Amino acid sequence: MTNVRPDRAEIERRAVEVLRRASAFDVPVDLEKVARALEVNVHFEALEDKVSGVLVVKGAERNALVNATHHSNRQRFSLAHEFGHLVLHDSEGDRLFIDTNLRVYQRVGASTDDAYSQPDSTTKPHEEREANQFASALLMPCELVQREAVSLDLSEEADVAYLARTFGVSDQAMSIRLQQLGLLRPTGLL
Ligand SMILES: [Zn+2]
Repeated sequence: MTNVRPDRAEIERRAVEVLRRASAFDVPVDLEKVARALEVNVHFEALEDKVSGVLVVKGAERNALVNATHHSNRQRFSLAHEFGHLVLHDSEGDRLFIDTNLRVYQRVGASTDDAYSQPDSTTKPHEEREANQFASALLMPCELVQREAVSLDLSEEADVAYLARTFGVSDQAMSIRLQQLGLLRPTGLL
């Protein structure tokens, strides 16, 4: 294995590949199908509030825990994030990922490792950044966002909110994704 970190384009590519393999390249992305394709058992449980998600990889067994007390959009993001760890960081044998205080995303452009450090987590900041990029690409694939956005006026907050509902993500996650894809002017407010 090489130690080269996947760049954003590679992460986007891997996310789309997973969606196609799972027959889940559709809106909203069906995470149950993705879980089946990745052979992950998903458990929704009431966890401590600061814990968003956990991924346990032990041999061939993969289990993801999602905090069932969080908003459903947040649960989807957490699960997609754990899938990101599995797809991108599963090459080093058994691993345990515990994600605390997981934030959807930092400001566009603020992609330094520091912004992703989770003091209570077992993961490295670059892994957090990559898993978040994967989650965003998995839940809001570029091609599908462009397709859905074509008939909308994205300068209207209501349209962004509509798009967010369509994809089952938070307004914030959708705004950031739209900015990233160049479909929305950066607001500087996020
Ligand atoms: Zn993580």
